[in-house]
Amino acid sequence: MRALRALVAAVLVGLLPAACGEASAFPEDTTMSRIRERGILTVGIKFDQPIFGYKDPASGRITGFDAEMARLVARDLTGSERNIRFVETVSSERENFIEQGVVDLVIATYSITQTRARRVTFTDPYYYAGQDLLVRVGDSTINQVSDLKGKSVCTARGSTSVERLRATVPGIHLEVVDAYSICVPALIAGRVDAVSTDDTILLGLYAQHPDTLRLVGKPFAREPYGMGMRKQDTAFRDYLNGLIARWLCNGEWDRAYMATVGVSGTTSESAKPAPRPANC
Ligand code: GLU
Repeated sequence: MRALRALVAAVLVGLLPAACGEASAFPEDTTMSRIRERGILTVGIKFDQPIFGYKDPASGRITGFDAEMARLVARDLTGSERNIRFVETVSSERENFIEQGVVDLVIATYSITQTRARRVTFTDPYYYAGQDLLVRVGDSTINQVSDLKGKSVCTARGSTSVERLRATVPGIHLEVVDAYSICVPALIAGRVDAVSTDDTILLGLYAQHPDTLRLVGKPFAREPYGMGMRKQDTAFRDYLNGLIARWLCNGEWDRAYMATVGVSGTTSESAKPAPRPANC
């Protein structure tokens, strides 16, 4: 009876995989051992980006490629993908939430940059996106980034998108908001001429209004997505890099892609980091 009770307790706190030898043991005093003990992984993610990080209004479930990545981490760390708490994290809050310990990990269309790496630690890239443009279907004047000269463009605060637009298009008028979903009604109503950010995000927004909007489809910069964590947590980073390397080889990455981005018929050629043969 006592053994049974111990087993039930182990299941409840998510220790079972460790006890059964299914999951690896983590050295004490690491982020991994703390999360396994706590039994819950806290992930900062977007809530308004269909296909990548989206809170379904009806079910409350978080869907998208980033959510799939997060669930795989939770499964490995705690034994179940259900042991996860998602916290909405807009672009400008990502470094803050990591530094303040609001989340263990940010998985939120988060590009790896040198500036950000001064405040947080990134994994290796798990996805390559590209910055693109979303316009009104009837507007034939915008077909590449240089056409944005003198136009009004909506994008999000704290993003690489806003920085690149400023640097690339002199004379651009920027409407900078907290989240890309806010840009869509402004575009449809004609208050701005375009929305610009990663193709991953624009694809999801476009899919909600395919008759009204047009995705230009000429990416003008490559955006490597990494998972972000507390600065200098190299043990956590190395562990996560090992997981990512494994998913690129064992079909998990492809399954996550097909269940999310791939639903629209898009292929993963330019998006998937090359698996390293040594890991396969
Ligand atoms: N990937 C870009 C970035 O990290 C743009 C998308 C976003 O803001 O989430 O800034």
